[in-house]
Amino acid sequence: MSRSKQEVRRKFRAAVFARDELTCRGCGYASTPERVEEELDAHHITDRHEMPNGGYVAENGISLCAACHQKAEAHHCGDAVPPGFAPAELYAIIGSSEETARAASED
Ligand SMILES: [Zn+2]
Repeated sequence: MSRSKQEVRRKFRAAVFARDELTCRGCGYASTPERVEEELDAHHITDRHEMPNGGYVAENGISLCAACHQKAEAHHCGDAVPPGFAPAELYAIIGSSEETARAASED
């Protein structure tokens, strides 16, 4: 991974974790500044490959713990998605939408 790409990824994670106040938006688990990097993931609601510039914008990201992240990833794996973890539901939780995320990614 190039240096600039690492920076884009780091900023994305920081922006998503800050907006979500270091809390998993799936189950409400609250992390801390010291542990957030290992305890939470900044999940891409619409896959990186389907978004302009990789979709590294807060409008396309949501903080999830490992267990919730797995539920959300079911969509990308083509498996049945547990209730509450479909992309449209995740966007609703953060007050965004695929359209909003796409527009933000194009800047
Ligand atoms: Zn969770």
